[in-house]
Amino acid sequence: MAQIKSWHIHDKIFFVNEQKYIAVNFPDLHFKVENGYVFLIGTIHISANINDKIISDNFWLKIKFPPNYPHMYPTVFEPRHKIPSDFHTNPDYSLCLGTEIEISQIFFQQNSIGVFLNKLVIPYLLGFAYHRDYNEFPFGERGHGLKGKLEFYNELFNTKNISKIIKFLSLAEKDKLRGHCICPCQSGEKLRNCHWKVIHNLMTIPKSLIRKEIAEFRKHSIS
Ligand SMILES: [Zn+2]
Ligand SMILES: [Zn+2]
Repeated sequence: MAQIKSWHIHDKIFFVNEQKYIAVNFPDLHFKVENGYVFLIGTIHISANINDKIISDNFWLKIKFPPNYPHMYPTVFEPRHKIPSDFHTNPDYSLCLGTEIEISQIFFQQNSIGVFLNKLVIPYLLGFAYHRDYNEFPFGERGHGLKGKLEFYNELFNTKNISKIIKFLSLAEKDKLRGHCICPCQSGEKLRNCHWKVIHNLMTIPKSLIRKEIAEFRKHSIS
């Protein structure tokens, strides 16, 4: 069987750039290659003022990159278990940074470790530390499974209706949008005057992920 060449080998320039970014912005994180997989390992420091409360902490993380990075985003582990597994973690004990499409929508805007750390990992850690210290979620809390997805799409499309969500996702699966079509939210507005930007953001996500999501929602709509 042909081995899939990892991204750090077939795109050396990109790997060097990611290393430079980390050396400058996250000097306590270090790239390491183990068994052909790229990892980013070390301490991440968080500090922020949220609702007039100072949050400051650090976490030792092991971030695993998929071989096809940046066409897929990394997975984050926190091996010292400062974050209990009954907090937002996945079945493989990686940190649950959000639903797949929610993470994708942010990550695939820039496909880089910078956006992944700054817009996904750090907000997650700040949310954890704030919740631990003040017993509430500063940025809200997402449910798991279908419930979490519906909450996410409700924020995005202003609907929890599964067939409307499928219509939105089907537009995001296309390569081009037609602005004069009527928006699926049924506002009566043309797409370009309504959910245009929202759908455009989703169009940066790999189509395979969108198709998987549509297939999953179709199952829910007939069950
Ligand atoms: Zn979660
Ligand atoms: Zn709309």
